[in-house]
Amino acid sequence: MGPAQVDIPSFVRIKPGALGRLGLYAARHERAKPALLASAGLPDPIMTAVRDGFAERGIAFALEREVEDPSFAVAADLLAELPAGCDSVFGVGGGRALDVAKYVASLAGAPYYSVPTSLSNDGFCAPQSSLALQGRRKSLPCRMPFAVVVDTAVCSDAPEVLWWSGVGDLIAKLTAVQDWKLAYHERGEAVDDLAALLSTSTVYQFIARPHRDAESLQVMATALMISGVAMAICGSSRPASGAEHLISHALDRSSKRPRYHGLQVGVAAYLTSRLHGGGHTATIARLFDDTRFWDGIRAEPFSRDEWLEATRAASQSQCDRFTILQHRDCVGDVEAMIDSDPRLAGCFT
Ligand SMILES: [Zn+2]
Repeated sequence: MGPAQVDIPSFVRIKPGALGRLGLYAARHERAKPALLASAGLPDPIMTAVRDGFAERGIAFALEREVEDPSFAVAADLLAELPAGCDSVFGVGGGRALDVAKYVASLAGAPYYSVPTSLSNDGFCAPQSSLALQGRRKSLPCRMPFAVVVDTAVCSDAPEVLWWSGVGDLIAKLTAVQDWKLAYHERGEAVDDLAALLSTSTVYQFIARPHRDAESLQVMATALMISGVAMAICGSSRPASGAEHLISHALDRSSKRPRYHGLQVGVAAYLTSRLHGGGHTATIARLFDDTRFWDGIRAEPFSRDEWLEATRAASQSQCDRFTILQHRDCVGDVEAMIDSDPRLAGCFT
């Protein structure tokens, strides 16, 4: 067996002001006919900075579209619209638009520039896109971005709830890897040690300094990006997604009002850390105290009944992912935690 070859970003810029330099980066890479796919309704200053940066370099967009609906059908339509000779795709905005842009670029075989304007989850650099296919969300495999550009000044202006969501998705790497190791011990499932190590190591850098300033946003963006690289290395979302993600996916399917991915995943990670015996529970609880993550949940509490149903559904899900939920019946334990854990007080109604 030779060394693994994986597709990872070749160009990374994570710093304040990076958005206004996209045109410069495009010029350096000799992109003459880029497509711009951006979230609908981005603040004017963001779009102005992007457009001015390209105009200063004399680069006109071959196609410019706003993206609202993260569906396979929208991606297919945009692929059909891409003009001949389009040599790159720039995705700017939130997770939904980026999932579409990344998939369009992947289908077109064009280099993709991933430019998130908030850090609400790790999807901006993951080897799959979450798109609706005939009404159901599916994780569709796609190529990794050629470039990741994160403007930390823009991300610090994003609403705090999006940052909390990023905190939740980030900490879930600890429980995801716990589930992966459980699958190794119980089922003999192979664990890719480097992928597991990469996924969790950068999380601890953020835990050491969990603030919302430029320095911590840089660490958070790096950690979320490395999580995507870890997935690419092992060819699976295993290092980033365990039982906490199964619960969140079940909520997405059944909840009357699903919340941001990382809010659901973060609370589910706290619960599953306790199901695993508590090894990471104090770390997660302290991080959520320090970042005031709990306040974000209490501002709009989850439905207790929906979470118990989602835990049940996640335990019975037909996917081949073995987690603590497949290992034993956890619904009663989750119910007891929701009802009696002081940290969860006010998080459920
Ligand atoms: Zn996630």
